[in-house]
Amino acid sequence: MTTIHRQHCITLDATDPLAALREQFTLPDDLIYLDGNSLGALPRATPVRVQQVMSDEWGEGLIRSWNTAGWIDLPRRVGNKIARLVGAAPDELVVTDSTSINLYKVLSAALAITRADAPQRRVIVSERENFPTDLYMAQSLAAQYGMQLVLVEKGQALSRLRDDVAVLLLTQVNYRSGALHDMAAVTAAAHAAGVLTVWDLAHSAGAVPVDLNGAQADFAIGCGYKYLNGGPGAPAFVWVHARHVNRVEQPLSGWHGHAAPFVFTPGYQPAQGIARYLCGTPTLLSLAALDCGVDTVLAAEPLGGMQALRRKSLALSDLFIRLVQEQLSAHPITVATPLDAAQRGSQVSLTFDGDGYAVMQALIARGVIGDFRAGDKARGDPDLLRFGFTPLYLRHVDVFDAVQTLRDILDSGTWREARFARKGAVT
Ligand SMILES: *Cc1c(COP(=O)(O)O)cnc(C)c1O
Repeated sequence: MTTIHRQHCITLDATDPLAALREQFTLPDDLIYLDGNSLGALPRATPVRVQQVMSDEWGEGLIRSWNTAGWIDLPRRVGNKIARLVGAAPDELVVTDSTSINLYKVLSAALAITRADAPQRRVIVSERENFPTDLYMAQSLAAQYGMQLVLVEKGQALSRLRDDVAVLLLTQVNYRSGALHDMAAVTAAAHAAGVLTVWDLAHSAGAVPVDLNGAQADFAIGCGYKYLNGGPGAPAFVWVHARHVNRVEQPLSGWHGHAAPFVFTPGYQPAQGIARYLCGTPTLLSLAALDCGVDTVLAAEPLGGMQALRRKSLALSDLFIRLVQEQLSAHPITVATPLDAAQRGSQVSLTFDGDGYAVMQALIARGVIGDFRAGDKARGDPDLLRFGFTPLYLRHVDVFDAVQTLRDILDSGTWREARFARKGAVT
């Protein structure tokens, strides 16, 4: 293996066709941010826009802004922008509520469809290592519908799709390992087995090219504050394939999902199309911030769009993996993410045989921000150090410097200092 030099990374940055996209963000100096998979960075446009919404649209326009500033239409307009990133058609996707709540809506709708079409199918299949909120929501719905949630180990979902299964609920990119499901292949296999699919795109939207219609997926939801850079607590999105969307109602029948919300009738009539997945009044300030975040991803469209972002994302994660293998071989570190780029999202996770939490704290103290996820010890799951590679604002030299810093911390043993073992409220 040839040694990778810092100068080589600087050269890669100088010829990177996406390099200028970094200018869209406000990032602190002397900080390498490898946690855009948990909370995307702040776009420069966002404070200006939110300030303008507050002072002009709210302060001056007041209630009139629902019409004059187009507030009422913003869930649909921002939804149409996200649709371009995930292979959805115009007016098939809206921004609303949180990922957890949207999951509740689509999983309920999927169960209502199977209850009508194939009532003998009474099992929801998901992966044990799926993100907990997805599993908790599925547990609640399984209890309400008198169904069973079956959790399988990774790679085992397709072999569990027997004739008792109603819905397969998967997160396309696993939040722990960064492993990527082939949405088209898994959906085709599910349909062949008579099973509907619900896809969580929390770590896909803005990170990997997604083609919901091309894959014939059934339902999808996703997160606004990760790779879409919408800001803390940004609203989420929801998509339903056209063949299902008007078939069933979703259970959270709020007034914004009504066919005519401003007629104020006492009886609920769902809107046609994806608008029926809206619920209550949109969170306008957060939605305006998300609009700016989504624009930072759409800014790559003239440069090759999601395909170009994917190429750079994989170049960064490949570089990281090679540097870890080259520089850290003296330490008990292993790469827990698939080495095959085609099976990887936009993050790389490492295991460390020792106090991984302290190692991450020591890294953060040196200005390299990733995060730590504890594993389920009873199941033999390892603790993970997670590093997200957002191609919009990361440089190759950042990857080099991050690994160098990690090497310093491990070589010197500074991670053993007592101050790095203390846990904050959020890990
Ligand atoms: C981040 C994430 C969520 C977040 O859901 P919230 O409702 O925003 O808390 C849900 N599912 C997955 C798979 C995630 O990675």
